[in-house]
Amino acid sequence: MQEVIPAGSLTLAGTPVRCGVARTVVAPIGDIAMTYPGAIVLNPRLFSMPPAIQHFWYAHECAHQLFGYDEQNADCWAIQTGKRMGWFRMEDFQWMNRELQYLPGDADHLPGPERLAGLKSCYAAGAAPEVQPVPEARPATATRIARQAPALHSRPSS
Ligand SMILES: [Zn+2]
Repeated sequence: MQEVIPAGSLTLAGTPVRCGVARTVVAPIGDIAMTYPGAIVLNPRLFSMPPAIQHFWYAHECAHQLFGYDEQNADCWAIQTGKRMGWFRMEDFQWMNRELQYLPGDADHLPGPERLAGLKSCYAAGAAPEVQPVPEARPATATRIARQAPALHSRPSS
């Protein structure tokens, strides 16, 4: 059972998001989210997570669409984009701490505590939030950049 959502038609926690030309596939996969060229796959469980976390995972997968499969780069880009665009705040790390700290890691992913440390140092080093006085003008996602043709990578990753 899966649902395919065309690029530009996805809404996360009430906010439209887009990652270039990548479509979204909603399917009960083993991970919370994953990527393959041209598509971001989201586990339906994502939609019951806090808004910041929904945006974080989508941005993480979008980073794979744009920049390749390096996990630390994807985490860093996602968290810094969230800080700059205002959808990820310091207090959102409370959820991250709870969910990630016991992850063992694998060939591609650092163990939870190291991953969290990386996310926090990326967040600290990231640009300050942009002031957006006109709500309609606020960038909805990670992914404005992604209007240009993304550099895709050729193997799935999450
Ligand atoms: Zn990843």
